[in-house]
Amino acid sequence: MQSQKKYAQKLSLEFFPPRTDQGMEKLKTVIKEIGAMQPEYMSVTYGAGGSTQEKTLETVRFIQTQTEFQAAPHLTCIGATQESVMALLEQYDALGVKRIVALRGDLPSGMMDPGEFKYASDLIAFIRQQKGDTFHLEIAAYPETHPQARNCAIGLKWFKHKVDQGADSAITQYFYNFDSYRYFIDNCEKHGIDLPIIPGIMPITNYENLLRFSQSCGAEVPRWLRCRLESFEDDKEGLLAFGRDVVTELCQQLLDAGAPGLHFYSMNNTEPTLQIAQSLRLRQD
Ligand code: FAD
Repeated sequence: MQSQKKYAQKLSLEFFPPRTDQGMEKLKTVIKEIGAMQPEYMSVTYGAGGSTQEKTLETVRFIQTQTEFQAAPHLTCIGATQESVMALLEQYDALGVKRIVALRGDLPSGMMDPGEFKYASDLIAFIRQQKGDTFHLEIAAYPETHPQARNCAIGLKWFKHKVDQGADSAITQYFYNFDSYRYFIDNCEKHGIDLPIIPGIMPITNYENLLRFSQSCGAEVPRWLRCRLESFEDDKEGLLAFGRDVVTELCQQLLDAGAPGLHFYSMNNTEPTLQIAQSLRLRQD
C-alpha cells in the first residue's frame, strides 16, 4: 500500500442523473445537504450508448454553475463516435469542467455496434490527443477483477495499458473485502502502476437491491455479510444501522492503510453517505 500513502486523502461523491423533474428537485436538496462533506468533486453517471446524455449534461450543468462544487461527468465510449465524444467534450470544456470519469460502459441490449471505441483505453488516448491536459482523467479499477477479464493477470495487464494512455487516477468498483483492495494495490505496485486508486464505497441500504446490483456488476457480497443482512427481514432500521457500521469500519480501515480518499456511490441519498463520512478520520496532509 506504500505507493498510495503519498497522495492526499480526499472524499468524492457520485450521483446518477434523475429521470424526472421531481427526482431532479430531490437531488438538488441532497447536493445541498451532502455538501457538508466538502467533497473534492461530484461525479454524474452516464448511460452507456448515450441513453442519459441530456440528463447527465443537465445535472453536470447544475452542479457546475449553481453550486460551489466541481462536477465530474462520466463518459462511456461504447457505441459512440469520435464526433459525438468530441461534441460532449467541447460542451464540458465550455462549462469549465476539469475532470472526466472515462469508461467503456457495457453495450446496451439490442445494440450491436460497439462504435469507434472498443475499450476505455481508446477513449483515454483520444481525449489526450484531442484535448491535451484540459481534463483530469479518472478511470475504473476492479480489485475483484472485471467480470469479463479471463483472469486477474490479464485484467491487470489491460488496466496498466489504460493507465499508460494518460489516466490521472482511478476509482474502484465497490467491494466489502478490504484484502481485495490491499492485494490489488500491491499487485499494481509490482507492475509499476503508480497513480491514486480511490476505493469506491457503496453504503448498504437495501439487501435485495444490493444483491441484484452486485450480481450485475460482478462485485462480491461476502457470505457472512449476506447472512447477516438477510436476517434483518423487515427491520429496515436494524439493517441500516448494521450496514452503516460495516461500511464505516471498512472505510476507516482503508484510510488507516493509506487509501488516497474514498469515492461514495451515494445513490442520490444524503443520510447513508453523510453519516459514514462524518464519523471518519482523514489523514491531515
Ligand atoms: P475497460 O477498461 O475498457 O475494460 C473492460 C474489459 O475489457 C475488462 O475486462 C478489461 O480487462 C478488458 N480490456 C480492456 N482493454 C482491452 C484490450 N485492449 N484488449 C482486450 N481486452 C481489454 N457504466 C456506465 O454505463 N456508466 C457509468 O457512468 C459508469 N460509471 C462507472 C464508474 C466506476 C467508478 C466504475 C468502477 C464503473 C462504472 N461503470 C459505468 C461500469 C463500467 O462501464 C463497466 O464496468 C464496464 O463493463 C467496463 O468499463 P471500463 O471503463 O472499466 O472498461
